[in-house]
Formats: sequence, C-alpha cells, structure tokens
Amino acid sequence: MQTLDLQDWHQRASAQQPRQQAFIAGRFVDATDSRTFPTISPQSGRVLANVARCDAADVENAVKAARSSFEAGTWSRCHPRERKKVLHRLAELVLEHREELALLDCLDMGKPISDALNIDVPGTAAVLDWYAEATDKLYDQVAPTGSDALALVTREPVGVVAAVIPWNFPLDMAAWKLGPALAAGNSVILKPAEQSPLSALRLAELVTEAGLPDGVLNVLPGYGEEVGKALGLHPGIDCISFTGSTEVGKHFLRYSAESNMKMVWLECGGKSPNLVFADCADLDAAARRAAFGIFFNQGQVCSASSRLLLERSIHDRFVDKLLTEVAALQPGNPLDPATRTGTLVDARQTERVMRYIELGVQEGAQLVSGGERVQIDGSDCYIRPTVFTGVTPGMTIAREEIFGPVLSILTFDSEEEAIALANDSIYGLAAAVWTDDLTRAHRVARALRAGTVSVNTVDALDPGVPFGGVKQSGFGRDLSPHAFDKFTQLKTTWIQLQR
Ligand code: NAP
Ligand code: MG
Repeated sequence: MQTLDLQDWHQRASAQQPRQQAFIAGRFVDATDSRTFPTISPQSGRVLANVARCDAADVENAVKAARSSFEAGTWSRCHPRERKKVLHRLAELVLEHREELALLDCLDMGKPISDALNIDVPGTAAVLDWYAEATDKLYDQVAPTGSDALALVTREPVGVVAAVIPWNFPLDMAAWKLGPALAAGNSVILKPAEQSPLSALRLAELVTEAGLPDGVLNVLPGYGEEVGKALGLHPGIDCISFTGSTEVGKHFLRYSAESNMKMVWLECGGKSPNLVFADCADLDAAARRAAFGIFFNQGQVCSASSRLLLERSIHDRFVDKLLTEVAALQPGNPLDPATRTGTLVDARQTERVMRYIELGVQEGAQLVSGGERVQIDGSDCYIRPTVFTGVTPGMTIAREEIFGPVLSILTFDSEEEAIALANDSIYGLAAAVWTDDLTRAHRVARALRAGTVSVNTVDALDPGVPFGGVKQSGFGRDLSPHAFDKFTQLKTTWIQLQR
C-alpha cells in the first residue's frame, strides 16, 4: 500500500464529494421537506456537505421500507449462509475503501487520519467479519421435557431495529449495531450523529454493493430532537439500540414508555477508574497505557480511563512517567499522518471541555499539564492533553463525564479505599487495575462495579468479548455472541407428542 503524506490527504480532502442524501428502501433521497443541515469539519471549519435533515415523515418512510423488507423475508428468512456471504463481502468492501472511509471520519469529527486508517476502519471490518462468521454457527435449543412432548426454544429476529449512534467512532459504532442486528435477520434504520453522518451514508452504498436487499438497511441523518425522537416514539419500531450520553439514553426509555414499549438497549457514558497499585512491576507500561486510556481519540471515548487512582507511595514517580508520555501527545492537524492527537469534534465540545478545566482549577485541583486551547492551521478546536493532580472525590472533574482530554488523578492508601473511590460514581462502564499480585487482581476485579475490568492493560476490547455498562452506563451488551440477545426474541414451540 502506498503511504500518503499530508499533502496527499489535503488533495484528497478537497476532491471529496460525499453522499449527502438519506438512504431509504435502497435509494438515496432528499428529506421529505427537502431540508438540509451542514456537517462541518473541525479541522478546517469548512462545510463538508449539506446533509438531508430527516424528521418524522422520513422515519415513516424508512419504517415502511424496513417493515416490508422484513415481512418479505428476502433477508429475515434467507439461509444463514447467504447472510454470512453478504456480511463478509461488506467487511471486504470496507477494507477496500479504507482510505476513503478513514478520510470521511477524520474530516467530519477530527480524529487523526492514522487512527482512522489503522484502528477505526480495520476494527469496523473485524466486527462485521466476526458477525458474518457467527451467522451460520448459532444453534437453537431443545428443552428437557418428558417423553410426551418436544419443546423447541428458537431465536427469532425482533423485526425493525433502530440504531442511534454518537460521533466519536462513527464507523465502529455503526458496525457494532449493524453486525449482530443484520446477522440475526432484522431490518435496520441507522441514525448517525449530526456531527458525523458522512461515513454512514457511504457505508449504505457499500452495503448495497455487498448484496443486502433494498430496505434492510436505511440511514437517516438529522438532529436528535427530530429524527432521533421520532424513531424513539414510532410504534412500528421493535427495538432501539442506542449509544450516547446517559441523558439521551433516559429520553429513549421515556419514548418507549410513551409509545409501544419497544425494547431499549443503552450504552451510555462513563467515568472509568484506572487503579495503579505500588506492587505493579512495570510502571512504565502502566504510565504509557494510562496516557493512552485517557488521551486516545482526544479523550472522546465512553470508556476513557478519566480517573487515575494512584497508591500514594508511587504517586510522584508515576506522575513524572505519565507527563513524559503526555509530552509526546501534543495536538496536530488530523490530516497529518504523524499526528496522534487531533481536534475535538466541534467548537461547542471544545468550549464544554474548557469549562470543565476552569472548574478543576477553581475547585482547587493542581493543573500539571495542558489546560489550554490551541490554534493549528486556522482551527481552534484543539486542547492540549490536560492532567490534574490533587483531585478529591467531591470535585466536579472527579464526578462528571468530560468527554475530552482531561485526566483527574486521585490518591489512595489501601485496597479498600481504592475500591471505594473507584465505585463512587453513577457510572460503571469500564475499570482497570495494575498489580502483579494475582490474588489482589482477582479480588479487586470482583469488587469493581463495571462492565469490563482490564487487568494490567486499559480498554481491553475485542469483537469476541461483550462490551457495555452497569449503573447509569446503561444495560445490554454490544459485541460477542451476547449482542444477539438484544436483537432476537426467544420463542417456545411446544409439540405435544401424546394426546
Ligand atoms: P448524545 O448527545 O447522547 O447523542 C447520541 C445520539 O443520540 C446522536 O445520534 C444524537 O443525535 C441522538 N440524540 C440526541 N438527542 C436526542 C433526543 N432528544 N432524542 C433522540 N435522540 C437524540 O451523545 P454524543 O454527544 O453524540 O456522544 C457522547 C456520549 O456518548 C458520551 O456520553 C459518551 O460516553 C457516550 N458514548 C457511549 C459509548 C458506549 O458504548 N457506552 C460509546 C460512545 C459514546 P444528534 O447527533 O443530532 O445530537
Ligand atoms: Mg462534522
């Protein structure tokens, strides 16, 4: 593969003509009332496209298309091997269009092009491949009964699934929903975030090229309060799979209660603790991963290790190591392949994060790195990786999800205190523990209330293991065979053999 430099990426960026219409019933169409909204690049401030601004009328059309494709059975009842073939082909197409897809996400939400190319796009393909492969490996059950009966427990697709996703990993989040929902035979309506709709629209084209029948995937860009809410309230949708903030997750629970009691699965926010014990032998690795755990994707990661809990005896040594790592993560133009820290998603998010930094200072934490907004090539959506020490559990920066490059460091003196601090949060998405004491690793992992506990790493993630939260981080799991629980219903068929 040729290696592209900053100049090449600039050229490609200006030559780009992204898809901007909604995708319904296998066709690209304008919003019913022809309205559009601009999607802007935080890297340049440029309007990348004026995208269809869908609302309730478009949701109506998409639900009709999804329902009729589901009823027709061309996908929902086809042989699992057929579904497998299409999903495999889709994964291949994603890789074949790797540079184009990576550029769309890089421009639309400001992630470094190298991350988009080497992490997001291959990750998306890997998830699609995983579900392709799972499609014809799933067996149903026969329940134990007496000899006078046969009880079958079978999984059926739920019908029409709406997937509502955020902007931090536009392609991956789409694949995490589409993989299992499509593999199980559902028809899907995907609503990308308003900040990053472009890669989802390109994906719609690739899905068609891969052979998915018309109407099985529909993509509705637009605003949350318009198209998102209309999806939440529509009586023809059987299931919502949502990834986003806890606040909006709660809206979806209300929408469901006010409409048809559709299933709602929520992957929401986090404030993940990363616990480093003095008995961790490799503090260099721990510092490197601690920096990655909070600063990857500019800290805009739901499971970001935003609270670093250090045993007091190693505090100063560890902070020194960490600051060396942080120094290598200074922001740069996301189109530059050397950049490891890009822009935040937009000016609003940048201002929001800056307010949290001001609050940290006001409430008495010590700012030991970063804290400033910087301008690069005309954009001021950059914030230097920011580290606070001396954070206490009551401070706002220890409690609220910032969703930006801000690390809060707290100290502890005992294992009990570390666990209590870690669990002192409304969230429970992920946690990490660094220790070389095997017994302690298991003991602490058991005591932490989180969907994923990483030991001697952070952010352990693989298509084969479930991902999701407890408490107000939500419920239901993405990835792994467990994701099928969200997109299928169990049916019992009891056959009486003796009358
Ligand atoms: P968000 O504001 O909750 O938005 C998520 C999605 O919901 C977007 O598509 C959004 O549309 C839509 N939406 C917004 N308001 C709505 C409403 N009133 N009714 C229906 N839909 C609505 O979240 P975000 O700012 O995009 O992403 C950041 C959040 O996502 C963070 O809290 C982060 O922790 C969470 N997140 C969680 C995970 C996980 O797996 N647990 C992964 C990634 C991110 P618009 O774009 O038009 O607002
Ligand atoms: Mg954008």
